[in-house]
Amino acid sequence: MKKKGEKVKAAVFYGQRDLRVEEMELPVLREGEILVRVRACGICGTDVHIFNGAEGSAKVTPPVILGHEFCGEVVETKSLLFRVGNKVSIDPNIYCGVCKFCRSGKVQLCENLLALGVNLNGGFAEYAVVPEKQAILFEDISFEEAALAEPLACCLHGIEKLELKATDKVLIIGLGPIGLTMLEILKLHGVDKIYGYEIEEFRKEVARAQGIKDIIDANDDSKFDIVIECAGTKESIEMAFEKLEKGGQLLVFSVPSPRTEVFIKPFEMFRKEARVYWSFVNPFTQRLAVELLESKKINLKHLITHRISLGELFQALSGKYERQLKVIVQP
Ligand SMILES: [Zn+2]
Ligand SMILES: [Zn+2]
Repeated sequence: MKKKGEKVKAAVFYGQRDLRVEEMELPVLREGEILVRVRACGICGTDVHIFNGAEGSAKVTPPVILGHEFCGEVVETKSLLFRVGNKVSIDPNIYCGVCKFCRSGKVQLCENLLALGVNLNGGFAEYAVVPEKQAILFEDISFEEAALAEPLACCLHGIEKLELKATDKVLIIGLGPIGLTMLEILKLHGVDKIYGYEIEEFRKEVARAQGIKDIIDANDDSKFDIVIECAGTKESIEMAFEKLEKGGQLLVFSVPSPRTEVFIKPFEMFRKEARVYWSFVNPFTQRLAVELLESKKINLKHLITHRISLGELFQALSGKYERQLKVIVQP
């Protein structure tokens, strides 16, 4: 643990494609906050979007430290709930509790949403200040696995929207880290007719190794009771609508560019009596995500393909590695 006055490192985001690893003062805590020595922080598609100039779940206000999928060890505390040495997974989304959405239980739609790693300093740093409410204790998993609790929590919230039966025939479009996380959740629900659509060979291999039933190709004309779209392009979203069976349910889970427009045939959706859902962040699901990882009911270790330092973050946000799924920053 560094001492007061000593410098600590953080990757500070200053604006589009401007990220600098800097030395700064160890942050000072206020009442109800803990200081976390960050041990692992996953890179999310959202970090890449923000790095390239798009918005995050909340409006980004540089300079800010990005990274919202993180965990670490408590090294200092001004909270009665945590002790030095506790291992904590961080839920980055902070809700006001006062607005009409918070008051009606839809906290994720909070009008005053703050998010660590989006508009407040997050986990691409050696140390992070975290309000006690945002920290979830864990014990039996590695730090890099605990960093996957946040994206898992988002996926759990998405799946909760669906009326899911073990006998449903499901298609996951896009088998990146999110699509593959969806696969694990579906397996936990006892679903065995799980199909995928993916272009990248490496991702197909991983999905097969994890027990996906089959990978379909683009001109396959089968229909699915449930389609989970995790790719975020115009083509993938249009395909998702098109693949729906009568009475089917579609979960559009990806985060497309704000400029994306898609073409759908409402008459077709009417005939199918389709139900379509979108899903935003991780309300009330991160505790469950941590428990599922700790109990080994869900295993996501195979998603971690790269481990990098803060100094390598710029490069990681700028492009893609070979055979990449989840990249974990170890600050
Ligand atoms: Zn994320
Ligand atoms: Zn609110």
